[in-house]
Amino acid sequence: MNRDPLVPLVASPFRHYINGGWETGATTGVSLNPSDLDEPVGEYVRADARQTDTAIEAASAAFREWSLGSAQRRADALDAIGSEMLARRDELGRLLAREVGQTLPEALAEATRAGQIFKFFAAEALRVSAESGVSARTGVEIDVTREPLGVVGIIAPWSAPLAIAAAKIGAALAHGNCVVFKPAESVPACAAALASIVSRAGLPAGVFNLVMGSGRQVGARIAAHPLVAAISFTGSAETGTRVLQVAAARQARVQLEMGGKNPFVVLADADLDGAVDAALSGAYSCAGQRSTAASRLIVERAVFEPFVDALQTMLAKLSVDHALKHATDIGPLANAAQLERNLDHVRIGQQEGAELLYGGRQLERAERTTRGYFFEPALFVGEPEHRIAREELFGPLAVVLNADDYDHALHLANDTAYGLCAGICTRSLSRARHFRRHVQCGLVTINLPTTAVEYHAPGGGRKASAYGATDAAFWTAVKTAYVASGWP
Ligand code: NAD
Repeated sequence: MNRDPLVPLVASPFRHYINGGWETGATTGVSLNPSDLDEPVGEYVRADARQTDTAIEAASAAFREWSLGSAQRRADALDAIGSEMLARRDELGRLLAREVGQTLPEALAEATRAGQIFKFFAAEALRVSAESGVSARTGVEIDVTREPLGVVGIIAPWSAPLAIAAAKIGAALAHGNCVVFKPAESVPACAAALASIVSRAGLPAGVFNLVMGSGRQVGARIAAHPLVAAISFTGSAETGTRVLQVAAARQARVQLEMGGKNPFVVLADADLDGAVDAALSGAYSCAGQRSTAASRLIVERAVFEPFVDALQTMLAKLSVDHALKHATDIGPLANAAQLERNLDHVRIGQQEGAELLYGGRQLERAERTTRGYFFEPALFVGEPEHRIAREELFGPLAVVLNADDYDHALHLANDTAYGLCAGICTRSLSRARHFRRHVQCGLVTINLPTTAVEYHAPGGGRKASAYGATDAAFWTAVKTAYVASGWP
C-alpha cells in the first residue's frame, strides 16, 4: 500500500482511468478552488461519447472474471481501498477542502467516512445472503440466490464527492459488478485521487473505470448505452428524471438519490439550546450543501422568538473564510453556479415578502484573504407558500416557519414535493413517536440534526427525493432454483 506522504496522490492533469490505464481525453478543463480562484486545483481531461463507450466495453469485458471470481478477492480489494483511504485521509481531506470548499474538519470527516464505507463493503462482499425456500413438492429444494448485474454506471454529484462515490462503488464491486464512474465536472481531482487508490487495490483491468466530462456527453451516454445494466445516480431531481427517462426506455435498472426540502421541527417543549445547536449544524454545516441539510425550520409559536433570536446570535459568530484556515466555520460555496443560485434565492425571498433576518450577501474578501465564492449564511422568516420554503436551496440558507401547534408543524413538514429526511426536537416521547411514524420521508432524526445519519444504516427517500431500491435488491438480480435430487 502506498502510504508515503511524499508520493503525491494525484497530479494535474487529472486523467481518466480506463481498462487499467490512465488516459488523456478529447478536451481539457480546469478545476477551481472555490476558496481561492487564483490557486486552481489543476487541469482535468474530458471524455467524449466514444471514449465513454471504450470504458463501458472494458467494464463489460471484465465482468465474467470479476463476477465469477471469489468473494474473498472482492473483499480484499475493497479492504485495501478502505485502508489506503484511511491512511491518507489527511491528503484526501485537504484535496477535498480545496476542491469543494468544505472546511478542513468537515473534509477530513468525509475522507474518513469514505474509507470506512469501503471497509464496510469489504465485509458485505462476504455476507451469506442465499435463502433456502420450502418446496410444495417432495424431493425438490428451492434456493434463492442473488447474481451480479454486469456493468453499473455511477453518476455522482459534486457534493460529498468521496463519500457518495465510496457508497456506490463499494456496493457495486462488493456485489460482483463492474463500474463506470462519472463524477461531477467540478470535482475531477477528488475522483482521480479515489481512482488512484482503487488502481492499487489489485482489481483486474476494466473492473473499475473513471470517465470524466460533461453530463450531456458522458452521463447521457452511460444512461443510454445498451451494455450498462444499471445506473446509480445521485444529483438533482431534474437530472435524475432525465436519466430515468433515457434508461427506462431501454429497460435498464435505475436508482436515483435526489434533492430534498428537509423540515426541522422545534416544539415548545424542546431543550431550546439543543434545538438551536441542531438547527445550526443541520442547516449550515458544509455550507448547507448536503442533501440532508434542513432548510425549513418549523418552530412552534410559543418558542418562535427565542429560537430565532438565539439562532441569529449563533450565525453572527460564524467565521466564513478559506476552507483550509484553522478558525473557519463555513467555507465558500462550491462553485460559481452555487453562488449565483444562493444569491438568486435571497432576491426571490425578498421579492416575495419573506423577511431577511441575517446574511445573504456575497462576501468580498478584499484585504489579506483570497478571491472566492464566499456567501454570508442567510436566515429568513417566511410563509409556507414562498418559493424559498418550497424549492431546494442547497446552500447556507434557511427559512423559519411559524407553527400553531404540533399538528400544524407536522402538516407543514409534509407539505413538500420532496421526502428525503426530517427532524424534530421535543421532550415528548409520544410526539416524537407520532412524528417518526407520520412524517413522509426516508430518514428521521429526533433531537439530532437532520444531517446526523450514518453510512451503515439504510438510506433512501420518498416522493421527488428518491427512486428505486438502495440495497442488495438494486445491485443484484434474484435467481430462484428448483432442484430435484433425482432420488426419493
Ligand atoms: P446535477 O443533477 O447537476 O448533476 C449530477 C450528475 O449528473 C453530475 O455528474 C452531472 O454531470 C450529471 N449529469 C448532468 N446532466 C446529465 C444528463 N443529461 N445525463 C446524465 N448525467 C447527467 O447535481 P449536482 O449539482 O452535481 O448536485 C447537487 C444535487 O445533488 C442537489 O440537488 C442535491 O440535493 C443532490 N444530492 C442528493 C444526495 C442524496 O443522497 N439524495 C446527496 C448529495 C447530493
